Amino acid sequence: MPELYDKWQLKALSLFESGKTDDVYEQQTINGQPYLRYMKAMYMTKGCVKCHGILGYKNGDLRGGVSVSIPLAPYLAAAKDTGRSILITHIAVWIIGLFTIFYMAYKTKQMLTQIAYKALFDELTHLPNISLFKNRLKQVFKQAKRDQNYKFAVCFLDLDRFKNINDSRGHRVGDKLLRALARRLNKLLRPGDTIARMGGDEFTLLLEDIEGLEEAITVSERILDSFKKPFDVDGDEIFTDASIGICMILDHYKHSDDMIRDADIAMYRAKSLGKGQIYVFNPEMHAFAIETMKIENDLRSAIEKQQMEVYYQPVIDLQKQSIEGFEALLRWQHPTLGFVSPERFIPISEHTGQIKELGLWVLEQACHQVREWSLQFNPDQEFSIAVNLSGVQLVDENLHTKIEAIISKTRMTRNKLNLEVTETALIGYIDRVNKVIRKIRESGISLSIDDFGKGYCSLTYLQEFDFDILKIDKDFIQDMGSEGKGLQLVRTLMLLARDLKMNIVAEGVETEEQLNRLKAMKCPFIQGYYFSRPLPVEGIYQLLKAGCHYDTNKLLQNNPQIQVETPKTG
Ligand code: C2E
Ligand code: CA
Ligand code: CA
Repeated sequence: MPELYDKWQLKALSLFESGKTDDVYEQQTINGQPYLRYMKAMYMTKGCVKCHGILGYKNGDLRGGVSVSIPLAPYLAAAKDTGRSILITHIAVWIIGLFTIFYMAYKTKQMLTQIAYKALFDELTHLPNISLFKNRLKQVFKQAKRDQNYKFAVCFLDLDRFKNINDSRGHRVGDKLLRALARRLNKLLRPGDTIARMGGDEFTLLLEDIEGLEEAITVSERILDSFKKPFDVDGDEIFTDASIGICMILDHYKHSDDMIRDADIAMYRAKSLGKGQIYVFNPEMHAFAIETMKIENDLRSAIEKQQMEVYYQPVIDLQKQSIEGFEALLRWQHPTLGFVSPERFIPISEHTGQIKELGLWVLEQACHQVREWSLQFNPDQEFSIAVNLSGVQLVDENLHTKIEAIISKTRMTRNKLNLEVTETALIGYIDRVNKVIRKIRESGISLSIDDFGKGYCSLTYLQEFDFDILKIDKDFIQDMGSEGKGLQLVRTLMLLARDLKMNIVAEGVETEEQLNRLKAMKCPFIQGYYFSRPLPVEGIYQLLKAGCHYDTNKLLQNNPQIQVETPKTG
């Protein structure tokens, strides 16, 4: 056997010789490196024998072998990598598997939490919702039933004019205002009290373990007091007010939910008393709530059924000692409720939007009527007519076009038409109202700021809208008796109006003393019971016919047939 072969190859050849195998492979370390060695046996063929036969070889004899040595290092490295990869993959699959299990559990928990949250909390303000509030109330209610000394109150809070803010500034602003309010309320209450959002702009408060009604009123006053500060919404200052109804636990309650209903009724009553009021529920108020629903319903057909009538109250020019014009005041004679005060039905009609129709109806009646009186009794000067505009009407961007249509229909002299807007109607949605008011101003119609002094006395509004007339609220006129605040305020308002080149009408003049004080201050125009109550068309007609331009009391004494409005009670 040639010495061409190494040890391993010789071993392989001997295996070939034994006839056990034709090839051999084995892993070996050569120079410290792993190799795969392979050797294949070679046998004599006929061709080979031709030459090698002389050496004694026969066809089929083992001739030798060919071998290869393949370095295994790269393969082993690759295999190692593959192994590691497989291991990593396994671990990853496990981790993902475990993570998925935990994630799913977490998500399920989160979902359940969310469902529970949605069921109990208000999404917008994150305050408890009506369900959670009712639940809490039920517990407290039970406690109070067990312990007679345990007192608590339910307060129902509703924003004034929220609908207007929402309509004029958009829902986004409305939502932000509600969130800001929720934050403010949270700060104002004790930690143990519950505030919930019922929906819209309605909130309920549960004041637990209080001393008595006074405490509930004090808390409510503190809340209303906080409304003097504006709400900051996107850098804009929004003023608003709220009305609060309070219901204290009473023996007659069988279900806790009834207390929410009654606090709501009290809130409605508070609203009807004006903005920013508090009212405490008493059992007789159920009747009031039912009446409110009736008014709301019957208002829809009141014009059509001819139950509405416009009354006119003369505005006196003190220098000329004659009637300068009138203010149109709406009256409603209800078939079963009798005379319903505008202070009762106007807020309801504002709430339902009915005021838009009513307001335009009054405007048309008044323009038509006053034009007629002017032509008949005062063709040179013509009487002025003041018509009240509600804030709800002012939000209508087409208001100006509607007013123009009435002016041309009734042929009213435009500069004798005077639209009265209250300060509170402007607050909260000044941007939108701005456009409408400007259009009215540009068309030559004059504009009054009504009840000035009753609200915020904002000088901004006076400057912004360039009013022609400032009407001083009757409360101040009636508070002028002594050298009190009323007198000072009226004096200041007079100076202010003169500075801003506005005319002044003092409202609610009832006594000679008030008249004399106003005369001394050189107040140009006055309006009040002292001269005349608001009268129906016939009453004013008689007044003008008698040539009595001044003292209606005398006229009424002489003409008892003139119908005068039912005197106000309370
Ligand atoms: P206002 O615009 O401030 O009208 C003046 C109110 O004071 C009238 O009450 C009038 O009758 C009353 N008044 C006049 N002189 C005196 C007085 O010497 N002493 C007292 N104590 N009161 C006097 P009225 O007619 O009950 O109207 C109440 C309010 O209802 C009005 O206040 C006005 O805000 C609203 N209103 C009345 N008619 C309309 C209307 O057609 N449209 C709108 N939007 N509001 C109206
Ligand atoms: Ca008025
Ligand atoms: Ca007024």
